[in-house]
Amino acid sequence: MAKRDYYEVLGVAKGVSDAELKKAYRRLAMKYHPDRNPDDKEAEEKFKEANEAYEVLSDASKRQAYDQYGHAGVDPQMGGGGFGGGAGAGSFSDIFGDVFSDFFGGGGGRGRGGPQRGADLRYTLELDLEEAVRGTTVTIRVPTLVACKPCDGTGAKKGTSPTTCTTCGGIGQVRMQQGFFSVQQTCPRCHGSGKMITDPCGSCGGQGRVEEQKTLSVKVPAGVDNGDRIRLTGEGEAGSSGAPAGDLYVVVQVREHAIFQRDGRNLYCEVPISFADAALGGELEVPTLDGRVKLKIPEGSQTGKLFRLRGKGVAPVRGGGPGDLLCRIAVETPVNLTKRQRELLEEFRGSLKGDGTHSPKADSWFEGVKRFFGDL
Ligand SMILES: [Zn+2]
Ligand SMILES: [Zn+2]
Repeated sequence: MAKRDYYEVLGVAKGVSDAELKKAYRRLAMKYHPDRNPDDKEAEEKFKEANEAYEVLSDASKRQAYDQYGHAGVDPQMGGGGFGGGAGAGSFSDIFGDVFSDFFGGGGGRGRGGPQRGADLRYTLELDLEEAVRGTTVTIRVPTLVACKPCDGTGAKKGTSPTTCTTCGGIGQVRMQQGFFSVQQTCPRCHGSGKMITDPCGSCGGQGRVEEQKTLSVKVPAGVDNGDRIRLTGEGEAGSSGAPAGDLYVVVQVREHAIFQRDGRNLYCEVPISFADAALGGELEVPTLDGRVKLKIPEGSQTGKLFRLRGKGVAPVRGGGPGDLLCRIAVETPVNLTKRQRELLEEFRGSLKGDGTHSPKADSWFEGVKRFFGDL
């Protein structure tokens, strides 16, 4: 199925502002949220689709890549994984707490311009496969807004405090008469806070918040995979006027591994094997994340055959035992033959002539070719 254009999914134009984008996303997310549409597959798909589109378009660098290269420009693992892979059952409001706080309890007064909860932040954490599988603790540095220390986040110069806004009398809203109608609006002077700063703090210029590189220690549980998120509550941007801080979402991105590919709880690797070993059978040493193990190869093993090492995969972060390691053998054609080896192979080739039981695939293939020409 072709993927729909992200802008189309959210019903917005290409040059849409961040605020409009968020609004469009909220509208769809509210409409299709699984809490409101239990057991509705179609709604769930729409919810995922909107979520994926928003995840990309709300991220400036991803959006740029998407605008330039389309779906190919953004990592599908990250977009799709955010919902299906990243969120365990029942953790919707956890993952989307910021977006849904307005609709599903909490967050009152937010839209009215009062003190605003700080923005959530997202940090992409690159890990090696080994780190993701075993878990680790990493130190990250995140540029964020923190409450200004000299003014305690109030924005007012030390020793002074914000005064009640004279335009709205501290309500944060003003009534405007328009013809017969009286319209309530956010106070243009205090932007809804109800407070005015007459003597702004010199450190933050009255903003109450300053930029700072925060150093944080993140405990990564064992078994995380691409797109999994770790939420650090309260480690996002500081809120305005003493409102609570946002959260920091650390999104896991696993680097490609030289030997193993991961698919859920299973690992895959390719093991080259000499054609003599494949024909005669033998014992191979294969790598696992816990070290080398021996793998018995029966005689007559064909290239591409998968051997399963039970329990040598990954124990996923959401529980359950480890999966398996699947080793795909690749029979290698010998090169750089010595004279002696060449003679042996010539002799071997001669021994095959006229006897059709040594090459099961080739024999059935030639049979097929014969039948094909016979049918013509
Ligand atoms: Zn005011
Ligand atoms: Zn300050």
